[in-house]
Amino acid sequence: MDADVVIAGAGPTGLMLACELRLAGVDVVVVERLAERTGESRAGGIHSRTLEVLDQRGVLDRFLAEGELQPVGHFSGLYVDFDESESRHPYPLMILQSAIERLLEEWATELGVRVRWSSEVSGIRQDESGVTVELGTAETTTPATLRARYLVGCDGGRSTVRKLSGIDFPGTEATMTALIGDVELPDLPEDYVWVRRCPTGDYSAIAFEPGWYRVITSEYDRVPDRDEPVTFEQLRESLVRVAGTDFGMRNPRWISRFTDATRQAARYRAGRVLLAGDAAHIHFPAGGQGLNMGVQDAVNLGWKLASVVRGQAPESLLDSYHAERHPVGERVLHNTRAQSALVRPGAQTDALRDVFGSLMVFDDVNRYLRHLLNALDIRYPVDGDHPLEGRRVPDADLNTSEGPVYVYELLHAARPVLLDLRGSAEVAAAAKGWADRVDLVEARSEDDHWPVPAIGEIPAPTALLIRPDGHVAWATADGAPDASALRTALTTWFGPALQG
Ligand SMILES: Cc1cc2nc3c(=O)[nH]c(=O)nc-3n(C[C@H](O)[C@H](O)[C@H](O)COP(=O)(O)OP(=O)(O)OC[C@H]3O[C@@H](n4cnc5c(N)ncnc54)[C@H](O)[C@@H]3O)c2cc1C
Repeated sequence: MDADVVIAGAGPTGLMLACELRLAGVDVVVVERLAERTGESRAGGIHSRTLEVLDQRGVLDRFLAEGELQPVGHFSGLYVDFDESESRHPYPLMILQSAIERLLEEWATELGVRVRWSSEVSGIRQDESGVTVELGTAETTTPATLRARYLVGCDGGRSTVRKLSGIDFPGTEATMTALIGDVELPDLPEDYVWVRRCPTGDYSAIAFEPGWYRVITSEYDRVPDRDEPVTFEQLRESLVRVAGTDFGMRNPRWISRFTDATRQAARYRAGRVLLAGDAAHIHFPAGGQGLNMGVQDAVNLGWKLASVVRGQAPESLLDSYHAERHPVGERVLHNTRAQSALVRPGAQTDALRDVFGSLMVFDDVNRYLRHLLNALDIRYPVDGDHPLEGRRVPDADLNTSEGPVYVYELLHAARPVLLDLRGSAEVAAAAKGWADRVDLVEARSEDDHWPVPAIGEIPAPTALLIRPDGHVAWATADGAPDASALRTALTTWFGPALQG
């Protein structure tokens, strides 16, 4: 084998997954068809749950240092408020995708991830023991194939890996076209608000550097061929059509196009091949969710794939990746379809936006939309009945014998944590069987109640089992917990107990 896992694509999803696998000691190679990073701005920000995930790995400060926290988010351009009680990181961070990718790549390099540029996946052969990945490569000295136990396609919306593995990508066709460019706009009025609706479409201009703007124009019922090149002249003409002027647009650094085409892979796994990020789902980029979802896919998959590669958990654990993440993808596709309907031009949509906007002042409506965007309310399917089971663990303040700590600090090593908040003999006894792969931490909670988005405050648990992705596998509020339920959860997620 050349590696345990080959990842196709060094975008945000592929890089995050590579880091997760390396943290778990897995040998991983990322193959990327580009010769080097493009520096394209694309995504403009990351939401709460992704900020939490980065905090769980101890690298959040790097991202905070390069971005700017935003006081509000938006659903189809209508403002959504965030709630400080729900998370240590309630606000979205405005940071360009180019910076996110650079920071992830720096972290990956520190962890020993190998990235092979100019290496395009062009063929796949699966058998019982592994996957042979064929590479079209510009370098004659590198082998044209790589052999690994698993291949993960993080190769974007047009994923070659998805097509080669015969995974269907059903969904809906594009009904509009958006052009995007990083340009200078010297004649933009000073009182310009970031987005304007016009009779034939809409346009937005967001400053990202002094004098520089990310301009997006959207026009409806015009869908060019996907392979038609995009030019600066097209962007200028489109801006003139919707805004009546080009605001002196000049010096394009990057021009691209996107649509509201919405599709999702029917399966996230086909044998030894898995899909994550845009390779598994594409949608209208409204409310800034695609990159976030890709990073969260990676964090869900990473520890599971590592456990299977290390031989600790059965291969069937990988099926929980589809079971947990496919419904999350469906929900995002659903809300972005709704958002794309809400931006279409016309008097009917204007009225609909007006009604929708007046509903958003109600707390319940605002909360519902906030959770669609920030993903703090996600609950994976679970058998247990404790309200934390299946949800992301709240980042509570704890006290240990070594001093204060918060829950996410315990997850920096990307290992499962069995958190005992009462010093229970049953929990300590159960933990012994998994001592090689689950960290037992004894602590006390600072607070009697913990905030749980979508539920409210709940009594602090007495013990809980936290997966490396920060989701709760088992929790109890009993003083004398049911050790058999805990053992079942440990076996389900982390494989059988040590012998003896
Ligand atoms: C205008 C716009 C604004 C957006 N704003 C946001 C936002 O604010 N927040 C947000 O969360 N998301 C946003 N998104 C979405 C976000 O950009 C994508 O969801 C994100 O890039 C997906 O990351 P990925 O790593 O899955 O795929 P990609 O970023 O597409 O990366 C895939 C990588 O795979 C490589 N590749 C492709 N084929 C092969 C092959 N055969 N072999 C090897 N390598 C290959 C590609 O070169 C690329 O580097 C926005 C998108 C657009 C267009």
